[in-house]
Amino acid sequence: MRIRCVVCRAPARSDRPVFRCRCGGTLEVVSAPPNVRLGSGPLSQVRYLPFYPVQELVSLGEGGTPLLPSVRIGARLGIDLHFKNEAVNPTGSFKDRGSSVEVAKARDFGATTAVCASTGNMGASVAAYTAVAGIRCTVVVPADAAETKIAQIRAYGARVVRVRGSYNDAANLAERRAAHGAFLLGDYLYRREGTKSLGFELAEQVQADAILVPIGNGVLMAAIGKAYREFATLGLVKKTPRLIGVQAAGSSTVSEALLRGHPLHCIDHPHTVASAIEVGCPLDGKLATEAIRESRGFACTVTDREILAAQRLLAREEGLSAEPGGAASLAGLLKVHSQLRPGSTVVCLVTGHGLKGPPPAR
Ligand SMILES: *Cc1c(COP(=O)(O)O)cnc(C)c1O
Ligand SMILES: [Zn+2]
Repeated sequence: MRIRCVVCRAPARSDRPVFRCRCGGTLEVVSAPPNVRLGSGPLSQVRYLPFYPVQELVSLGEGGTPLLPSVRIGARLGIDLHFKNEAVNPTGSFKDRGSSVEVAKARDFGATTAVCASTGNMGASVAAYTAVAGIRCTVVVPADAAETKIAQIRAYGARVVRVRGSYNDAANLAERRAAHGAFLLGDYLYRREGTKSLGFELAEQVQADAILVPIGNGVLMAAIGKAYREFATLGLVKKTPRLIGVQAAGSSTVSEALLRGHPLHCIDHPHTVASAIEVGCPLDGKLATEAIRESRGFACTVTDREILAAQRLLAREEGLSAEPGGAASLAGLLKVHSQLRPGSTVVCLVTGHGLKGPPPAR
């Protein structure tokens, strides 16, 4: 396994924990995809073990989530629509896929303490996985983190530190604390590797024309792009779907950059009801943008009102409970479906459970 900088391409060491290049750029794992034959067993996180930079996972039974054909919305839009229900992961979001690999890596490095920045779901996930791995964990959350999510983090025994500021302020604090010895968990190189399993599963479940992916830090988008690339190298997918990024209007750096064709401009005070994607300066913005371009996809922006409407629709028409960030993909689809060929096979990722952020009462 080699590690290199996403920005300047310089190599980084893989024999000790390193999270950033000297130039400040994010790092990525570069490895030739293993030449393995996938068995006939059930879909799961562990099915793709040779594709991760660890020998063994810290597992709570993550992954292997159902791909559900749409009951009503797809027919109305004239497309073959499916929902990938990530809400059924152990802590209620897809973050568990990344945690199973990232926390295993922390354990391999002999970590006894860890620190992680989070808008909520990441923190709940690493809290559960570090609890199992016997690693003490501190989660740094932004000022406006949801109380339900903070309660979930504490329930798994992690310590919560609230910063006066945004997710990126929390991430800066976590990185500073990691410099004093705690293992840095969160949206960094090893998490991306574990998150690839969502792409691998989709590649095995359906031949999609397009996948709608919400973007916060952009790790999910980057990981799905990487997963399809690795499967394509092995001849395991015939066609790579177009990746369509969805961002909230108050937090739309990647979409804006793609729409206007300019570089990423960070936002100081992002704001959206979809707290899971409220990120002003996405750590994986560059890789997410590249994944979209490479797939000949595009990005779109949805308003809070559109996100909340999609959250209601998902529950009432499809029986799926999603938090606002988990419904953003459907909000995006409702906006861009006319740009897709009628009859195309489309997947919306339902990334997080509704119990984490129920719809506002009316
Ligand atoms: C983390 C998260 C996202 C965004 O994923 P990124 O990798 O940060 O882009 C979307 N939805 C939910 C529910 C999440 O928890
Ligand atoms: Zn660099």
